[in-house]
Amino acid sequence: MKICRHPRKSKEEAYRAFTSRQNKTFHKKFSEVPTSQRIIFVPHCMRKTQVCKAVEKDGYYCCARCGACKIGAIAKLADSLGYPPLLILKGGRAILRIVKEAKPRAVVGVACFFEGDQAFRMLREYDPAIAVQFIPLTKDGCSDTDADLGEIGEKLKI
Ligand code: SF4
Repeated sequence: MKICRHPRKSKEEAYRAFTSRQNKTFHKKFSEVPTSQRIIFVPHCMRKTQVCKAVEKDGYYCCARCGACKIGAIAKLADSLGYPPLLILKGGRAILRIVKEAKPRAVVGVACFFEGDQAFRMLREYDPAIAVQFIPLTKDGCSDTDADLGEIGEKLKI
C-alpha cells in the first residue's frame, strides 16, 4: 500500500532528524569549549517588535533586556554563565560573516528547523571544528515566535 505524506511535514521531519544527529555529534566537543569562546544566536522573530528596545547593528540586534520577550531572560542567563553578549539575527545569512569576525570555537543557535539545518551545513562547510548546538523554536513563523527557556538554559549550561 502506498502511503501519502504531506511534503512540508516530511521535510520538517528530515530537518528535525538531521539537527538532532548533529547536536549529538557535537555535544561533547561543545561541552569542552569555555562559554567565553562560544557565541549565541537567537532569531529576531522572538522579539516583541511593538516595544523592543534592541539596538540595531549590521545584520543583527543587541538586546536591551527590556524584559518584554524571552530573549531578555536568555541574555541575562548567558551573561551569568560568562557568554559574550548574544546576537539577535535578522537572518541566517549574517551567521557566516559574524563567525568569521568573532572566531568562536562553539556556536549555539535558536531557530526554526529549516534555519537550524541550514546553519549546521553552512558552519560545517566553513569550519568543521566549530562545535554547534541547536535549539528549535517551539512556535515558528515570521513574528511572535517562541522557544522553551528550560531547554535553552540546559543547553547553555552544557
Ligand atoms: S527583551 Fe530584548 S529582544 Fe526582547 S523585546 Fe526587550 S529589548 Fe527586544
